[in-house]
Amino acid sequence: MSPYGTGRRRMVPERLGTDRTREARRRPVATPERPALDSLNNYLPAGNGCWVWQGYIDRNGYGRVYDSTAAQGKRTDWVHRVSYRHYKGPIPERYEIDHTCENTACMNPDHLDVVTKSEHVRRTLDRLGTTDRQKLAAQLRHTGLTYGEIAEALRYASRTGAHDAVQAAIDKGLVDADDVPPPPRLTPEEREDIRALYALGVPQTEIAVWYRLDSSQISRVCNGQSSGHRQRKQGVK
Ligand SMILES: [Zn+2]
Repeated sequence: MSPYGTGRRRMVPERLGTDRTREARRRPVATPERPALDSLNNYLPAGNGCWVWQGYIDRNGYGRVYDSTAAQGKRTDWVHRVSYRHYKGPIPERYEIDHTCENTACMNPDHLDVVTKSEHVRRTLDRLGTTDRQKLAAQLRHTGLTYGEIAEALRYASRTGAHDAVQAAIDKGLVDADDVPPPPRLTPEEREDIRALYALGVPQTEIAVWYRLDSSQISRVCNGQSSGHRQRKQGVK
């Protein structure tokens, strides 16, 4: 994930509050008496303004700090969260920190925004390139999500947009067409049940969720069209 995520793992915390002198760097060993917390100064400024954490980096590329005085199980925290709290203030419950610089090892408070989960997702998706998003769409289809769900998850404007993205991923060879399952085909009995539910007043959108189908498929069934199978483009089976 992060270009900083490998080869720089240090499990032991730095001394508390040290200047970043060679002397301090030669003695990064924690003892029970100290330190309470990794020094927040333990970063290297990068050309783009990032403060790149020099302590432990987790497997996802995020910096971790260690606080031996905290309750057990709460002794490590993400350095960007600690940094935000230290320089900017509390992080509201259920809010997340977005790295505006896209460098997960960065702890520069000016590169950190506190955002809701959905805003965080939106920003992350916006940063994905077209190709990455198409590949993700195909992967989600592989897990069984409907095109409607993929459109919602990846912010495509419509199911058709999600479908076209999956098709593009296949065309570009980003995924194997065989890895993308066809939409489930409804049995005659299922189509009967769907029509019966609809007649009882169950909204099509709700039926679609139950059957894990796109509501367009449900709509076609309810409108008495012969097949519950969505129209397909060549390649997306
Ligand atoms: Zn940064």
